Amino acid sequence: MHLLTATADRRRPFRLSDLPYDEHWEGYVLGQDDEHRYLWIWQGFNIRVIAVPHGDTTGYDHAWCYPRDPATVEAAIEQWDPATEDEPLGWHKRATTKPRRAPHRDRDRAYNQPRCRHGDYLHGTCRTVNCPDERDDRRRALPESV
Ligand SMILES: [Zn+2]
Repeated sequence: MHLLTATADRRRPFRLSDLPYDEHWEGYVLGQDDEHRYLWIWQGFNIRVIAVPHGDTTGYDHAWCYPRDPATVEAAIEQWDPATEDEPLGWHKRATTKPRRAPHRDRDRAYNQPRCRHGDYLHGTCRTVNCPDERDDRRRALPESV
């Protein structure tokens, strides 16, 4: 069999979104603010939203993993205000170690409540069975045993 290879002018990238595509990060550009560009990248089992410092090509400061549904991810980021809200909603794993802190987080204290590693508020219920953060939080809330 003779395998066919498309010529450059006939080759089209497989597109998952209508957002601008970033060749370096191999992801779609969601937006930007004074500190970061926000992109989503397709990974094996999820979509990762990354916050890349302007001009940086080596790494990112913050990242959150979402289910593999581009429309859901894009809607979550569209509703997010990074100036006043620490982190977006809807992710199931924070892929970086420290939670992001919004520069004007004091303007929306109700939104910026502590969350577990899966993105759910600690005062609510985590979607993940046996969430260690939820367990730790409940343990702290228990009265001291005698
Ligand atoms: Zn959790």
